[in-house]
Amino acid sequence: MSTLTKSTIEHVNEPKKQKVLILGGGFGGIKTALQLSSNNYDISLISDQSNFRYYPTLYKTATGGNQNASIIPLQEIFKDKPVDIILDSAKNLNRTNKSVTCASSKSYEYDILVVALGVYTNFFGIKGLEKYAYGIKTLDEASALRDHIHKQLVDDGQPDLNYVVIGGGASGVELAGALPGYIKHIMKRHGLKERSLNIELVEAAPRLVPRMSVRYSRLIARRLRKLGIKLYLKQTVQAETAEALTVSGQSIKSHCVIWTAGVTNHPFLKDNQFSLNDRGKAAVDEYLQAEDSIYVIGDNAETQYSGMAQTALHDAVYVADNLKRHSSGKTPKPYQAKKPVYVISVGPRWAAVSWGKFQFYGVLGWALRQAADLRAYHDLEPWWKASKHWMADSESQEVCSLCNPK
Ligand SMILES: Cc1cc2nc3c(=O)[nH]c(=O)nc-3n(C[C@H](O)[C@H](O)[C@H](O)COP(=O)(O)OP(=O)(O)OC[C@H]3O[C@@H](n4cnc5c(N)ncnc54)[C@H](O)[C@@H]3O)c2cc1C
Repeated sequence: MSTLTKSTIEHVNEPKKQKVLILGGGFGGIKTALQLSSNNYDISLISDQSNFRYYPTLYKTATGGNQNASIIPLQEIFKDKPVDIILDSAKNLNRTNKSVTCASSKSYEYDILVVALGVYTNFFGIKGLEKYAYGIKTLDEASALRDHIHKQLVDDGQPDLNYVVIGGGASGVELAGALPGYIKHIMKRHGLKERSLNIELVEAAPRLVPRMSVRYSRLIARRLRKLGIKLYLKQTVQAETAEALTVSGQSIKSHCVIWTAGVTNHPFLKDNQFSLNDRGKAAVDEYLQAEDSIYVIGDNAETQYSGMAQTALHDAVYVADNLKRHSSGKTPKPYQAKKPVYVISVGPRWAAVSWGKFQFYGVLGWALRQAADLRAYHDLEPWWKASKHWMADSESQEVCSLCNPK
């Protein structure tokens, strides 16, 4: 027969901690876990990778920048935090048992589930794209693109110098703007004979970066043209082979096509019968709940500004605050969307900014982008750690590991 000691009595009397299970180790998932970690919750975060990806700088990593600006190990972010990190891939939701089963076949129970799984690249079934096009959505993709550009120029003698970026959203525009500098840097660094480049940006819509005003779309287009990039608007990509891309019936010779044009919501939501809108995003109520005890945030949720890191962070803070309010017996507050600040960098020391009623561009925009990046790292880490990643970001292609092997 067991005896009850003072400590077991205290343990029995302790209120049971609520189990919060978070799916996804990106902006939304990490921020939710951090916001709740100082409170009385039993928090687990399931991530299919050991690093957080800072997407906004991946185009720089693809053009010779330091990769430490684009990834932060989850262990670093959660060091000394009471959050259980589970490296696994979430697959099946069991609503009756309130649990999620992962690829490893292990199941994890929850009282509260937060879904923040992000989006997948969508090639819209265009022939050859998935096989031949490069991407910039993961560190591996960005590194593969950087290595390919470098290898073509340095090792392969006389490559064609045709580069095609598909997609005139923020990612495509920022990458296109950074390409000429990187390619010229490689040529100079390796003493290659200077040849003219042909960088093209193809977009199906009539204008670039539709989240910005028409005037600023034109301004960005002008800036890209000044950097030597040819723009093809209202053009449809039809197919790709190893040597060429077919766009609106015309064949463009290119060894380097980069796809930045489409994403689709994470399959977890469809596979687990969430109610989805026609864009595949999960319908949520005024508290960001898809169902009782299940919150969907960031890119997965149908909210006004879904698709931005700033929104995912805002959603995470909102959900965590409401959970804390609920625990302390307060009524939850309804969600209010927050308009993001749009900052698009185009080439060296130039960015266009749309911040509420204000719009500006040039070196001032670029300075704001630098500050925004530092702020975003600090959203996840203390200043001293955040500045380490930020400093890595500000290092130029002079540190390109391929140009300067150690
Ligand atoms: C190239 C690029 C540049 C961008 N630039 C900007 C910018 O400058 N400013 C801005 O505001 N937004 C930007 N965005 C958009 C922004 O990154 C997203 O809106 C943001 O990441 C959404 O956060 P999230 O938490 O919803 O998803 P994510 O940050 O994508 O996080 C989802 C996480 O879930 C993990 N995961 C996926 N499947 C599973 C699974 N089955 N099990 C467990 N884990 C899984 C993923 O690996 C990932 O870590 C950019 C996006 C891209 C692709």
